[in-house]
Amino acid sequence: MNDSYKFKVLAAIYSFYDLFLRDFSPACRQGCHVCCTVNIVATSIEARYLLASSFFDDPDLKKLLSSAVTGTVYRPSLSTNQIADFCLRQEEFPYDRGKHGEGVCPFLDHEGLCSVYERRPFACRAMSSKKVCQHSSEADMEPFLITVNLAIYQIIEHLDKGGVSGNLIDLLNKLVNNQSINTDLGDGLISNRAWPGFLVTPNERERFRVFMRRFADFQVGNTTLRSFFPGLFMTVL
Ligand code: SF4
Repeated sequence: MNDSYKFKVLAAIYSFYDLFLRDFSPACRQGCHVCCTVNIVATSIEARYLLASSFFDDPDLKKLLSSAVTGTVYRPSLSTNQIADFCLRQEEFPYDRGKHGEGVCPFLDHEGLCSVYERRPFACRAMSSKKVCQHSSEADMEPFLITVNLAIYQIIEHLDKGGVSGNLIDLLNKLVNNQSINTDLGDGLISNRAWPGFLVTPNERERFRVFMRRFADFQVGNTTLRSFFPGLFMTVL
């Protein structure tokens, strides 16, 4: 699968999710940026999709990105599908010792708006809250939405099999400096895995099935998302 094919699928997943999220009436509003930090995790296909936007004609981009990682940033030790695999096999997995940094995302502009909003990665879209976070300092998310978010993270990682996951700024830094991110593991980058199955509790199963049917039937041009993931829905639908 080449990048333009994956970009098309990724854009459809983002569109589907943004529409789906409306059902939950999140309190998140334009200008709210409590979750816009240097700790965003993304896949390599999402980083490339972001870089493909016109925003990145900015000649100061390299400087912007390198200055964003001078302090601590969160670097995950396992990918979402690795964690799901451990959980499905009921095996313990290594504790994630990654520390979160205090810095602000370099794409947040002076008015508190995201300068790459249309192409922001899934982690940014998935951070929503029933209550305004400034008041309580943390997001308040419905459990089913957490289940759905995890499933979408898994599907995006599956789409980017052969790629990597890691801190968004690390990934972008490597890409703008023409460093390979598929072979140069370490530095907090993790190989992406194929989807091992979804993590759904027994009482969520029916609601999840309805959600997946809606996902599978989402129109992409003259086809649907189902056609891009042969086999993924067989155990769910
Ligand atoms: S990419 Fe945009 S939405 Fe995501 S953390 Fe940065 S400013 Fe916020």
